[in-house]
Amino acid sequence: EQLLKIKGLKVSADGKNILNGLDLNINNGEVHVIMGPNGAGKSTLGYSIMGHPKYVIEEGSISFEGEDITYEKPDVRAKKGIFLSFQNPEELAGVNLESFIRTSKAAIEGKPLRILAYRKELGKTMENLGMDREYADRYLNVGFSGGEKKKSEILQMLMLNPKLAILDETDSGLDVDAVKIVSQGVKAFKNKNNSLLIITHNTKILEYLEVDYVHILVEGKLVKTGNASLVDEVNKNGFKELALS
Ligand code: ADP
Ligand code: MG
Ligand code: MG
Repeated sequence: EQLLKIKGLKVSADGKNILNGLDLNINNGEVHVIMGPNGAGKSTLGYSIMGHPKYVIEEGSISFEGEDITYEKPDVRAKKGIFLSFQNPEELAGVNLESFIRTSKAAIEGKPLRILAYRKELGKTMENLGMDREYADRYLNVGFSGGEKKKSEILQMLMLNPKLAILDETDSGLDVDAVKIVSQGVKAFKNKNNSLLIITHNTKILEYLEVDYVHILVEGKLVKTGNASLVDEVNKNGFKELALS
């Protein structure tokens, strides 16, 4: 069943055209990977699906579960079950991680949480991610290392349990142990009813998942789509050659 449908998407930011007519369909249960050179527009695609106000839809449409969300606000999209893990997670002083996730989860579920159950689930999920429980009391991402920020993103994903999780280089800048933990977290999240859109340069995370489609994004367009073997082709030949072939 169709989950996300992107048609002819053109997106600009600060007057610069970034996405130049992009089509993408994601069905329930599928894992899609986006690869592409720096500056190709990968993060912009993630932001556009999430509805970041800086990214202006010039043409095209985005629908989710058959509903047009092209011009919906990010909170509406989150409520529908879309989650974006940022490439560069922002720090938020004054709000601790525990209450940040609790507020998001309550908003998405549309009802207040049962606090004890929530705390228990949070503690268990943090333990699985090898995160010290005291991080829950710290301001969101403030003073977190790169790896801790990425783990905090995965923690949010696991706690919010979206239908579509977009991971923007969540596996970048991590040491080998952290990549493993993050990858296991993503694997634990994945079931037959939810879908993943993974933006990555790193192929380690892909060893933990069954990838259905790999797309190559170059200069704001998907220039090639294939199966998991496309990853090997990228590693061997680079993006330039693929874009031409
Ligand atoms: P990628 O994630 O593939 O590296 P991005 O989506 O971050 O690429 O950026 C694509 C291009 O758009 C880059 O040239 C970048 O400088 C530009 N860009 C991204 N965001 C903005 C913005 N808010 N304002 C202006 N230009 C932007
Ligand atoms: Mg980049
Ligand atoms: Mg990026």
